[in-house]
Amino acid sequence: MSLLKLRNVESFYGAIMALRGVSIDVEEGQIVTILGANGAGKTTLMKTVSGLMDAEKGTVEFNGKTINGMEPDKVVAEGLAHVPEGREVFPYLTVEENLRLGAYARKVPGVEDDIELVYDYFPILKERRGQSAGFLSGGQQQMLAIGRGLMARPKLMLLDEPSLGLSPLLTQEIFAIIKRLNAEQGVTMLLVEQNANVALNTAHYGYVLEMGRIVMADTCAALRASDDIQEFYLGKQ
Ligand code: ATP
Repeated sequence: MSLLKLRNVESFYGAIMALRGVSIDVEEGQIVTILGANGAGKTTLMKTVSGLMDAEKGTVEFNGKTINGMEPDKVVAEGLAHVPEGREVFPYLTVEENLRLGAYARKVPGVEDDIELVYDYFPILKERRGQSAGFLSGGQQQMLAIGRGLMARPKLMLLDEPSLGLSPLLTQEIFAIIKRLNAEQGVTMLLVEQNANVALNTAHYGYVLEMGRIVMADTCAALRASDDIQEFYLGKQ
């Protein structure tokens, strides 16, 4: 079943058309990735799904419901959590306060259990639970941003550039956890990631976005084998 379905979506910044008729499907249970160069429209796509931007045309359907034009907090309440590029944790709040904020819009009980669940996946956050989030390293802030997203008990998580500014080793660590969250907790993921190699090794299915248009769509295994992807996104000769 398609948990998220976009059809012919157009989004603008003033007169600039950043999405030019985008149609994608995210199947329940999968990790789906969007590849694309800087400025292709990946972040715009994420913002359009989470309600931070309005689709001027087309439809965004989540879990069988049209969510175009819905306020971002209503979208979160529907079960869709956005972990934005640049993490955006609240630096003056503690790690645990940041996590609790992630639960503000949820309808289901069990916040305490879910804080423990987040700590199981990210033990370093438990160690630092009482510290201000601003003192965490970049990798730990990324973990906190994902943890905060999980606190909404999402059916779908949007992950925008989780590897931004992280070392290769930390990137591997974070992506291993993303895979586990998908497999063990059943969280469906829509992933935007500059590092195409990591994205294609993590996701099941992928789309290539160029200048606001989807130009390729296939399983990640097939995308990895494609000459164009190898040349333009994986840097192979
Ligand atoms: P990046 O990897 O650099 O984040 P991206 O693929 O996420 O790139 P977007 O940030 O979605 O790309 O940008 C898509 C297009 O919209 C680009 O041409 C960009 O210049 C333009 N754009 C993005 N934000 C704004 C804005 N606030 N005002 C005007 N144009 C914008």
